[in-house]
Parts: sequence; C-alpha cells; structure tokens
Amino acid sequence: FVDIRHAQKAYGDLEVLKDINLTVERGEIVAIIGPSGSGKSTLLRAINDLDPLSSGEVILDGTQVNKTLPHRQYEKHINQMRQHIGMVFQHFNLFPHLTVRENVTMAPKLLKGISAAEADKLAEEQLAHVGLLERIDYYPSQLSGGQKQRVAIARALAMKPKLMLFDEATSALDPELVEEVNLVMKKLAEEHMTMIIVTHEMDFAASVCDRVIFMDGGVVVEEGPPSVVFKNPTQDRTKEFLRKHL
Ligand code: ATP
Ligand code: MG
Repeated sequence: FVDIRHAQKAYGDLEVLKDINLTVERGEIVAIIGPSGSGKSTLLRAINDLDPLSSGEVILDGTQVNKTLPHRQYEKHINQMRQHIGMVFQHFNLFPHLTVRENVTMAPKLLKGISAAEADKLAEEQLAHVGLLERIDYYPSQLSGGQKQRVAIARALAMKPKLMLFDEATSALDPELVEEVNLVMKKLAEEHMTMIIVTHEMDFAASVCDRVIFMDGGVVVEEGPPSVVFKNPTQDRTKEFLRKHL
C-alpha cells in the first residue's frame, strides 16, 4: 500500500537516509523509533515529498508520489497526492486566527470544492470523533495542547486520507495531556487507518503498532512485531537504544 524503495537522502555530505526500503500494508500501524538524528522525520517528510529524496521512490496505493514532472504538472500531482496523506507534527500548526471549525473545514472546502454546509458536517463528524465537538467555535488559543493536537488530527481526518503520518505528535505535550491524544490514535488504529507513527513512547508503540522499525544512522537496523523488537531484539544497536528508552 505504501512502498518506499531505495530511499536515499543527503544534505551535502551528510547521508541522512541510506537505501531505506519499507512497505506498509493497508490498515497496518507502523512505529518508527530510533535515536535523535537517525532520519525518522526526514523519512516521514519524504513520504509526502515535503522533503524530497535524493533518489528512490515513494508509492502510495499504486501511484508514485515523488514523481519528476514539469513544474505545473508536479504541483497539480503533489496537491492531489497530499490530499490522501494526513500529517500531524509535534507542534500543532493550527491557524491561530481561525476557529476550530474554520481550521477543519478549510482544506476540504478549498481542495475538494465541497459546500460550506457539507464541510461543516464533515468537521462536526471529525471533531466528535476526537471528542471536541463542543469546542468547534473556539480559537486555538482557547484550547489546551492536547485539545489542539486533537483538532490537528480532526483536521487531517476531514480530508479522508488513505494514510496518516504522525511525527512525535505527543512529545511537546505536558505528560497529563499525552493520554488523550494517544487515545485518539488508538481509536484510529482500531478503525484500521493506515498509520506511520514516529514516536519515543515505547509503551504506546508496543500497545498500538503492528510493527516496529528501529532506525539508526539513516538505515533500518531492525524491524518486526513489537513483541519481538522490544523483548528479543537481535541487533546490538537496538539493544543499546532500548536499554536507554524502555
Ligand atoms: P529527532 O528524534 O531528533 O527528531 P530524527 O530521527 O527525526 O531526529 P531527522 O530530523 O530526520 O532526525 O534528521 C536526520 C539528520 O539530518 C540530522 O543529522 C539532521 O541534522 C539532518 N538534517 C535534517 N534536516 C536538515 C536540513 N534541512 N539541512 C541539513 N541537515 C538536516
Ligand atoms: Mg524528528
């Protein structure tokens, strides 16, 4: 469903991704773990071509995302592809001057050309899903960090994506707010949303994900079901990382 083939990325002399190959099945929940600087965010951002690869391919549901095309055609293509890929970052990048409703309805109205009424209905649906319907007419500044992050998830879901990417979605939150966001992600997992989740929360990865990928130095060092990677890692680098993080 998601196919990353021979992904390489360099910043000058620094090779950040070294021939990464990764396939994610439809409905699969994959966690990416690894030390700081190992290339996790770079890989995630390469999936929707925000951070283009130096070489290699990203394929989503049979279509290559990172196509080489003349400028205008590329813009059209990538906007189309990005509609299918929801992304949630560490810092909830909600538009501060827009209400929750406006934040969630903006992309569907703009990109899918649906009516305001339809977009409202979609927003209400998605906000109910993340438990924030009653905050629909608030501004981001009137919300807690956990609530903002849940709005960011609802906003991504309003586009009905085929794939959701999370990059340390809870790591900027106060500890007491982490769980409410994790619960929303758990619910998505139960609904078989395809997700790739970069996280440093090993317990969360172990309880929610089907597969864990351990990256270090721009390569996939080890991967497998959480029960294997966390309990019986085979690689020394994985063992050392887990000693520090479990
Ligand atoms: P963290 O856990 O700290 O978020 P990460 O695994 O997400 O780390 P990346 O952000 O993917 O790591 O960065 C991988 C490497 O690429 C790092 O050495 C980083 O300094 C480098 N890097 C990232 N973005 C750029 C950039 N725009 N220009 C130059 N180097 C970059
Ligand atoms: Mg990162």
